[in-house]
Amino acid sequence: MSEQPYRRYLCRTCGFIYDEAKGDPDGGLPPGTRYEDIPDDWECPDCGVSKADFELLPEGDAEFERAPAAQSGTTAMDPEQVVIVGGGMAAWAAAEAIRARDPERAITLIARCNGDVYPKPQLSAAAARRRSADDLITQSGPDRAATLGVGLMARTRVLRIDTDRKRVITPRGGVPYGELVLASGAHQPKPALRGDAAGEVLQVNDLVSYRALRSRVDALDKARVLIMGAGLIGCEFADDLSAAGHQITLVDLADRPLARLLPEPLSAGLTEALAGRGVALRVGHTVEAVERAVQGDALRVRLNDGQTVTADVVVSALGLQPNIELARRSGLAVDKGIRVDASLRTTNPHVFALGDCSEHDGRLLPYVRPLRAQAEVIADNLTGTEARYHPDAGTITIKTPAYPLVVFPPTAPGEWQEAQREGSAVVMEHRGRTGRLNGFALSGAFTREASHFESRLGQSG
Ligand SMILES: Cc1cc2nc3c(=O)[nH]c(=O)nc-3n(C[C@H](O)[C@H](O)[C@H](O)COP(=O)(O)OP(=O)(O)OC[C@H]3O[C@@H](n4cnc5c(N)ncnc54)[C@H](O)[C@@H]3O)c2cc1C
Repeated sequence: MSEQPYRRYLCRTCGFIYDEAKGDPDGGLPPGTRYEDIPDDWECPDCGVSKADFELLPEGDAEFERAPAAQSGTTAMDPEQVVIVGGGMAAWAAAEAIRARDPERAITLIARCNGDVYPKPQLSAAAARRRSADDLITQSGPDRAATLGVGLMARTRVLRIDTDRKRVITPRGGVPYGELVLASGAHQPKPALRGDAAGEVLQVNDLVSYRALRSRVDALDKARVLIMGAGLIGCEFADDLSAAGHQITLVDLADRPLARLLPEPLSAGLTEALAGRGVALRVGHTVEAVERAVQGDALRVRLNDGQTVTADVVVSALGLQPNIELARRSGLAVDKGIRVDASLRTTNPHVFALGDCSEHDGRLLPYVRPLRAQAEVIADNLTGTEARYHPDAGTITIKTPAYPLVVFPPTAPGEWQEAQREGSAVVMEHRGRTGRLNGFALSGAFTREASHFESRLGQSG
């Protein structure tokens, strides 16, 4: 009797395709794992739902050429339209900026998620204010699409770009474009951990994963949360969740929090402020394994020195990586991110990129201010005004109300010097050999003076 051919299943939530032939080796499913053999606790690698949320795809590639479904707004088949891949802040900013310049142009967003509009930076500032994931949504995806007069193909993953035929390929059909804008964002790579509960580690970079975090911590009065990574997002979550009453352990291999961004005195101020909130900082450590505790739902987290920490929830905040696979597979130049020139075009003149997925002049700028400025430049270039992107000052605000911080990372070699101090509020200046100010970091009340320091950049004395 001949073996049944391998089948493919579509995630109804995000459009990920599970191919039995390929399996999901990262998720513990070797190639050849049949859908019915997938354990119930397996999770979609992209959005975390279970196998019950997958549907069988028809055989062959015919579905790629079917008319697209799950769409709201204008027709998605106009060959001159602007297609935007993504449904995050960058995608919506681009749609808004193009619509503001051209009320008639057909625009279609294709998003793996449902396209709901929310300020992502609030994910690490919502718990203390008792705001749920749903409270953060300012408008649903379909409502935003209707307001702007654009089409939205939600829960649809773009699999490939056919740059010769100017079509993007989705499991729900091919979609033609005149101009394409990639706003596919970034993801947190899964940490390589041992232990039978390694799969329970949460990575928070969207509403779905944030909902999962909150449903676990809100179910407990005082949840024990272990956060891997004391970078920007890890420190913000530590501050916010501790202010919400949870008990936080923050683990990082570096010897101080925000070591890559802050000069030492400000890391020290942050350490003290977080300690005041009851945050246990385990610097100089990494997590090796996450195991189920012998009793109850708790997890046992083993550090590299053999010590264990008991936690109800483990969150990984080890940094984001731009989503470049789609661009790479489609022949566009990628490095850390999707490479764009000053006009924000990729190596194909009809394909632009912005936001967390893009790399400009060798730099990633995964923040809101750059993506808004980039959206304006792309909209100009798409509506007949040649424009170039000039990165702005690049001051970063760190949302740790226990110890407010802003930093302008140095742009040239030099040294940090303490310029002023009032209690725990500090001004640190970074000066080059000739005395020119090429970076600064401020804490406490001094954070209100960021624009004053920005205006002094490049000056001596
Ligand atoms: C906790 C946290 C706190 C932050 N705080 C700040 C802050 O204080 N200040 C600041 O400036 N920035 C902050 N940021 C960063 C800021 O939020 C991001 O720079 C910004 O939201 C990125 O938006 P984006 O649209 O480029 O990417 P994303 O939000 O990642 O959106 C990417 C979109 O692309 C879609 N997509 C991906 N691949 C495909 C595909 N193949 N097909 C279809 N759709 C696809 C996804 O579904 C998603 O809709 C923070 C980020 C986090 C996570």
